[in-house]
Amino acid sequence: MAKQRAKLVVGNWKMHGRLAENRVLLQAISRGAEDLPDDVRVGVCVPCPYLAQAQTLLEGGRVAWGVQDISAHEQGAYTGEVAAGMAVEFGASYAIVGHSERRAYHCEGADTVGVKAQRALAAGLTPIVCVGETLEQRDAGNTEQIVGEQLDAVLAKLSVEEVARIVVAYEPVWAIGTGRSATAQQAQDVHAFLRSRLAAKGGDAADVPLLYGGSVKPDNAEDLFSQPDIDGGLIGGASLKGKDFLAICTAAVAATAAR
Ligand code: PEP
Repeated sequence: MAKQRAKLVVGNWKMHGRLAENRVLLQAISRGAEDLPDDVRVGVCVPCPYLAQAQTLLEGGRVAWGVQDISAHEQGAYTGEVAAGMAVEFGASYAIVGHSERRAYHCEGADTVGVKAQRALAAGLTPIVCVGETLEQRDAGNTEQIVGEQLDAVLAKLSVEEVARIVVAYEPVWAIGTGRSATAQQAQDVHAFLRSRLAAKGGDAADVPLLYGGSVKPDNAEDLFSQPDIDGGLIGGASLKGKDFLAICTAAVAATAAR
């Protein structure tokens, strides 16, 4: 029987939101999350200018908050960057690192992603380390090689104890924002591979939460989350609609019960 790990559902708002609409969304999510069981955890990664708003509206509730990227530097002359320690001052718990949009549009290499994971951990944030292959790489049969290299670059920089404190998100690039999710089996196969790679690190690394991301919606979430190595989701577009995001959280509850 598959090991039961708590589920985690995290929203990635990307560059969306304005104060007024955020308020409605955060209040709806916060209210809805009150009904979730303890073994389903929820978070939202908001644009940095809205961290204070997230803190004000979510503090004391069931929903954690975080950022979508952090600087690879601790502080200094890095115009436009946000340090992990700054996010912590606004109560953030999570920092996404290595999202494919950062890798593609901001030339973020594997080494930088590893350094960002280190920075996040040093500041007290949980890094959500994203890995994923392009369609071309999948079609060429290189999925495991690509995600394995992306994960290894991060693992190489962390101690066994640090690895146990990260979250990994498998996000096939071809499934992000396209409406074309990986099938539950495709996702499970890659998750099982990532879990074996983590297990090789030793300690508690094998129990690191593994999230799937890429066009997760209310109608496919339960199927995905029911897979033995899928511990929840990183949700983009659907996290901007309170009803859909909460339905995905509820699917995590159903998937836990079904296991
Ligand atoms: C993401 O950007 O992390 C993501 C998974 O996006 P979407 O759910 O919209 O595919």
